Amino acid sequence: METRYLGNSGLEVSLVGLGCNNFGRRLDQAQTSEVVSAAIDKGITLFDTADIYGGEGRSEQYLGNAIKGKRENVIIATKFAGDMGEGPMKRGGSRKYIIEAVEDSLRRLDTDYIDLYQMHFPDLHTPIEETMRALDDLVRQGKVRYLGHSNFTGWLIAHTHHVAMRDALNPFISAQNHFHLLNREVQPDVQPACEKFGLGILPYFPLASGLLTGKYRKGLERPQGARLSDGLMADRMLTESNMDKAEALFEFAATRGHTLLELAFSWLAQQPAVSSVIAGATSVEQVESNVEATNWILTDEELAQIEDLLADIS
Ligand code: NAP
Repeated sequence: METRYLGNSGLEVSLVGLGCNNFGRRLDQAQTSEVVSAAIDKGITLFDTADIYGGEGRSEQYLGNAIKGKRENVIIATKFAGDMGEGPMKRGGSRKYIIEAVEDSLRRLDTDYIDLYQMHFPDLHTPIEETMRALDDLVRQGKVRYLGHSNFTGWLIAHTHHVAMRDALNPFISAQNHFHLLNREVQPDVQPACEKFGLGILPYFPLASGLLTGKYRKGLERPQGARLSDGLMADRMLTESNMDKAEALFEFAATRGHTLLELAFSWLAQQPAVSSVIAGATSVEQVESNVEATNWILTDEELAQIEDLLADIS
């Protein structure tokens, strides 16, 4: 398994990571443990969870149980700031809440440190200096090793970088944002900000929730029991335009001897500043396919052909 530095930090992470938002929701403890063991066996080191995943902290709890005895082989990335209960004191980036949130995550994960502590969403009310000072304290106390953020905009990434430099605080080293072949919203400003200020990008929804795995085909029945089998998310993702694009990408990969899954992973792995592709998985087989899927080094010509091909589909 290839490893990459997470931004300008000294932390090396596996190029394929494991997203953990199925734990406690789609997967019970036993299934979670199976998927996590397979991932560790295949060389995955980066596990991305959040306090809000799985409901009532279950994803963190299941992950903590699944890595018992293997803590030193695992990089735990978790998050705070999302809604963990009623009222204003169970979310956000205040000093009061952060100090409470980290203790809750440490308890659920059953560990005494978190490798990457990420602010899940910006909190535009709390002064960023308050948030960053509180996070810096956690690093100095040894409860957290590195800091990251998620869903930040380019201007906020630049601003937090300057605050960290000005106030001699530990900077954010990673940015987790929505990014895949069919969603390019990071490209105008988040990605250049990450390159400029030395943050590693952890693209989320790298497989467009499964659409870019090749199992949703135009004109064919949808697979049963998958995330996009039915429901609101399926309506949002499986639009005619997205289906046409996925179909064109499927053919593009197939004519070059590859799968759409390999294209989805390999394309992301070649994007500037990307450190790890943290796809979710609901089975051991999926983990096994995903760890092999960054094997295609796309040429400049192929990368340009993909842009032309997608531009032709409205
Ligand atoms: P994703 O990686 O785009 O899609 C994952 C889903 O695709 C899996 O749960 C599985 O669902 C299907 N899949 C995966 N590998 C497959 C394979 N080889 N063959 C067939 N199907 C396969 O979406 P995601 O897991 O939601 O996103 C990745 C991670 O990003 C999350 O786990 C989470 O850690 C993080 N995330 C962060 C944010 C944020 O705001 N920071 C938001 C969303 C996600 P089925 O088996 O059900 O089809």
